[in-house]
Amino acid sequence: MSQQLNAHPHRRLNILTGEWILVSPHRTKRPWQGRLEKIAGEERPSYDADCFLCPGNTRASGDKNPDYKDPYTFQNDFSALLPEGPKEDYYEGLLTAKSETGVCRVVCFSPDHSLTLPVMEISDIEKVIQKWKEEYHELGSRKEINYVQIFENKGDMMGCSNPHPHGQIWSQLSVPVEVEKKSAHQLAHWEKNGSSLLMDYLEQELELKERLVLENERFVALVPYWAIWPYETMIIPKRHMQHIGQLTAEEDGAFAEILKLLTIKYDNLFQTSFPYSSGIHQQPTDGKNHEHWHFHMSFYPPLLRSKTVKKFMVGYELFAGPQRDITAEQAAETLRELSEVHYTKL
Ligand SMILES: [Zn+2]
Repeated sequence: MSQQLNAHPHRRLNILTGEWILVSPHRTKRPWQGRLEKIAGEERPSYDADCFLCPGNTRASGDKNPDYKDPYTFQNDFSALLPEGPKEDYYEGLLTAKSETGVCRVVCFSPDHSLTLPVMEISDIEKVIQKWKEEYHELGSRKEINYVQIFENKGDMMGCSNPHPHGQIWSQLSVPVEVEKKSAHQLAHWEKNGSSLLMDYLEQELELKERLVLENERFVALVPYWAIWPYETMIIPKRHMQHIGQLTAEEDGAFAEILKLLTIKYDNLFQTSFPYSSGIHQQPTDGKNHEHWHFHMSFYPPLLRSKTVKKFMVGYELFAGPQRDITAEQAAETLRELSEVHYTKL
């Protein structure tokens, strides 16, 4: 990108959603000076008798978790979507509503309460990926499920009160708005160029290298050109795939490896268990042709300058649109240079 433009406020286009983001690089000319002291007391026991997700414990619903050894899935006791409901639309003047049904599940990544993805073994992360694939197939094959959203909220800052390693899957009748936006832009590119938008984008990023964070045989992790969150990243498969169900066994391993290394870098950034929301965007399961879809996983972490200073989406962001100070290139450079060994193991 031209030096001239990158030294001044400018807008960048998110090619997946068609939305613009304001970048104000002049506000952070000073080098990054994150605090590096370790916070004590982050260590947790392998088992917590009060945790709803630990093996053998009784949940709020009264159900008892089995003594599971591998990733374990159950129906969310506080599901935001319910499988049954009235099938009707409501129109009254300017008021519009449609019924919505779905299934919400919790995926415990490990029986060990003390773990997180960056400190799990790669072979155990592979089992999480295999569980995600199973759930995607099982839920996606139902005729009343047209989209399966896999995600993880990690840390208090992201509203996750339970530290037990887990994620969620919300699957539903309608295709959510973020997915619709990405569908439309990938389809437009596919129809115009006969190629995958993210494959073409990846090719350009691999040539420029300035936003790359990690790369292995099968995947790339990078800070997208249009990133909104300070250390936002995206994991993109090098092969054109519509959904995680298409991953081969070898790709499961490569995906697990890059997930581990990326989350290690995140923890190393401020020497803390790094909070984020991560999620997998993939093709809807509505039975239609989605060959334009290229699955990817995004990480939206809130931290900005230290383990206690977060970026707020307020004021201009709420009323006008997203804005960032450090550029995607600066963030990528910082992440790239961080160790691939977890700070607690050094
Ligand atoms: Zn637990």
